[in-house]
Amino acid sequence: AAALDPQTRRLTEEREVLGPAYRLFYRKPVHLTKGRGARVWDADGEEYLDVYNNVASVGHANPRVVDAIARQAGLLNTHTRYLHENVLDYAQDILSTMPGELDRVMFQCTGSEANDLAVRVARAYTGGEGVIVTAEAYHGNSALTSGLSPALGTAQELGLTMRMIPTPDTYRLEIDGCPGNACPAAEFGAWMAGEVRRAVADMERHGIRFAALLADSIFSSDGVYPDPAGYLGPVIDTVHELGGVWIADEVQPGFTRTGDAFWGFQRQGIVPDLVTSGKPMANGLPTSLMAARHEVLEPFAGSIPYFNTFGGNPVCMAAAQATLDVMRDEDTMGNAKRVGTVFRRAVEGLMADHPCIGDVRGAGLYIGCEIVVPGTKEPDQATALDILETLRMHHVLTSVCGRFGNILKLRPPLVFSEEDVDMFMDAMAVTLRELGL
Ligand code: PMP
Repeated sequence: AAALDPQTRRLTEEREVLGPAYRLFYRKPVHLTKGRGARVWDADGEEYLDVYNNVASVGHANPRVVDAIARQAGLLNTHTRYLHENVLDYAQDILSTMPGELDRVMFQCTGSEANDLAVRVARAYTGGEGVIVTAEAYHGNSALTSGLSPALGTAQELGLTMRMIPTPDTYRLEIDGCPGNACPAAEFGAWMAGEVRRAVADMERHGIRFAALLADSIFSSDGVYPDPAGYLGPVIDTVHELGGVWIADEVQPGFTRTGDAFWGFQRQGIVPDLVTSGKPMANGLPTSLMAARHEVLEPFAGSIPYFNTFGGNPVCMAAAQATLDVMRDEDTMGNAKRVGTVFRRAVEGLMADHPCIGDVRGAGLYIGCEIVVPGTKEPDQATALDILETLRMHHVLTSVCGRFGNILKLRPPLVFSEEDVDMFMDAMAVTLRELGL
């Protein structure tokens, strides 16, 4: 802390008031005061490239979203026990981005609340309790969803009705002698479907009836495994055969992030029973959703009232609508595809000269970059963290994910440009050189 300037030191020390559960990024913390597009500025006016934040989906301080929020806040903000067009207009608009089977939507404030509700709906529909998640999944901070989030670590109290299946690690897994990333979708899916069968059999041995698979279609917290596209098909068929439903957690892949569809599940070519999302939905206002097939929603919603004080309020809905309008008008999907492809190829290009980069994978503007011990697939978290810290010193913000914390998570705002890619690559080149990698 001695190397910190007085203001940064004061703020860092004063964070004690928040208690020890809060974690800051970086040895030299960043104190941000302003943002625009994919750039943010610290208190000293220094500019940074944001390669991490998916919440500011249409860019930090997007003027259309700011204007929509200010205008509605100046008129009225209240709950959903009165009529308001904002919530109804947005509900219809967002459902129009989904397959027709998904014809109901309810609003909350966070992804955790959306997943919490989806699990309750799934349980009411199936009459079961058991929920399957992947080994490094994160689905939220509520009592229910934190119990479905093995990523929180071993100190976490996991739900008794929860069962884990392995991360679909296409980089390290071999399926019948075939490396995961060369495996056809049908075979990789069949392997994962087998894991679902095993988990359900274990539930049954313990008298637990299966209710749902809760999974994000690109397995972002597990370490970013979007391909081979379509591998979830056989998995979801198996979920249905065993009497469960699929809750597609679209907090990470949704809202055009993957570049080839509005929703991540569309890459997989299947229609979920329930969909949840939040983070990128309203460009920073706490807003989330749970969409459902009406027949799946009915047993829960037909008998249990649902009230969410802030969910679906006119200001959050105005922000969500403006965000969606910008996504359409500025074609963030096309941008995610185009710039995401350029970005991934550029990062892949580093592999030849830098053997610490073992694998680069992703979809659209969501890229995972494995840092390994050269010549092996052994995760190298220490080096990944050195890269993060050095990038930060060169004014590029990003983070890591995966079980071993060795996978660089490159997930910028959807307005990321080719110029931003160049800036990242310049900083990465200097970083790798300085670290002797
Ligand atoms: N699901 C996934 C896949 C997430 O990444 C997150 C947040 N990182 C959540 C759920 C929880 O969302 P929130 O923090 O808004 O509660």
